[in-house]
Amino acid sequence: MNPLSHSHYDYLIVGAGLYGAVFARQAYDAGKKVLVLERRPHIAGNVYTRLDHNIHVHEYGAHIFHTDNEEVWNYINRFARFSRYTHSVIANFKGEMYSLPFNMYTFNKMWDVRTPKEARAMIEKQRQEITGEPKNLEEQAISLVGRDVFEKLVKGYTEKQWGRDCKDLPPFIIRRLPVRLTYDNRYFNALYQGIPQGGYTDLVGRMLEGVDVLTNTDYLKAREKWDALADRIVYTGAIDEFFDYSLGHLEYRSVRFEMETLDEPDFQGTSVVNYTDRETPFTRILEFKHFEDLGSDCTIIAREYSSEWKPGDEPYYPINDEKNGTLYARYKELANTRKNVRFGGRLGEYRYYDMDGVIASALDAARKELA
Ligand code: FAD
Repeated sequence: MNPLSHSHYDYLIVGAGLYGAVFARQAYDAGKKVLVLERRPHIAGNVYTRLDHNIHVHEYGAHIFHTDNEEVWNYINRFARFSRYTHSVIANFKGEMYSLPFNMYTFNKMWDVRTPKEARAMIEKQRQEITGEPKNLEEQAISLVGRDVFEKLVKGYTEKQWGRDCKDLPPFIIRRLPVRLTYDNRYFNALYQGIPQGGYTDLVGRMLEGVDVLTNTDYLKAREKWDALADRIVYTGAIDEFFDYSLGHLEYRSVRFEMETLDEPDFQGTSVVNYTDRETPFTRILEFKHFEDLGSDCTIIAREYSSEWKPGDEPYYPINDEKNGTLYARYKELANTRKNVRFGGRLGEYRYYDMDGVIASALDAARKELA
């Protein structure tokens, strides 16, 4: 049986992540014939969630929707109801529990101070040890928040993330560290935030309703065949891979998740605990049921490890340094010569997007394409 409803399409969309799905929805609603190819066995890209023991597991890392963009918020609410979830994070430093991002609860625990004035005075006193321009990340952090916060909450975590000592990392990585002198431990300042009830996969599935979708299908493995099927292409895979890495590989930082199902109802009492000491090998533990508790006697956790990326690994975070920026600019020039292909999304544009950003970008692209 031919799963395709048409012999020719207006749009071939490569990738069934948020960018591809939003674009597909908009094109389909504008009366276009749309085909989506996805090489993974599932839709939803990196926001994919699967139901396991009645818990929505975020397979590629914790995803909390947050935005100030009213258009995006209204749009996404067409495809799911959002639970009233407010994200906050706990840090575990050798068994001492602190509230993040740095706020009055953190400073009270760290120094037994009670007022913003006392906290500010403590930070001021501790940052005095740095005089002149900070030469590395360690000096930069101390000059922003003082030594105690640096030692307990920044140093180990950052070193695990980057795989090297804070003294060997450039200061620009943390130009600023958010410090709140209020008893407010909300992780995001955004006006709207939440978790889609039913999981992100269902949400993306609803976006793709009516659209032809082929999973387990790698566009690049039969490019000519697919190109012949459509007038225009929206490509949300990696831009360097599209050009067969002809100019070299763009680099990424990667993460790895070790999942475990535990025979207990609640492991850590919250969704995310950062382990900020250097010795614990993972950076954080996610406990998915705290995003949306559907009722389960057990719990599923993921230990998150930062790992060096090498070609062939799952690309997670683009590296925004000069070398990669220059290489991307050269790929972008090549991309501009492909008039019938639009490159979009986190891999197609080699940039970090939050979910709201990628949705806004896909809506904008669809407006331009479909005008
Ligand atoms: P993707 O989701 O990667 O989709 C691209 C798709 O294209 C993939 O499914 C891929 O398999 C497919 N593809 C690639 N090449 C081919 C090919 N040749 N043929 C067929 N298919 C192909 N954002 C938030 O707002 N809140 C958060 O809490 C948050 N947490 C995050 C945590 C982590 C660890 C990471 C890495 C990101 C997080 N994000 C978060 C960002 C969010 O994941 C992205 O904004 C979003 O996934 C980007 O969607 P996309 O469609 O651009 O890319």
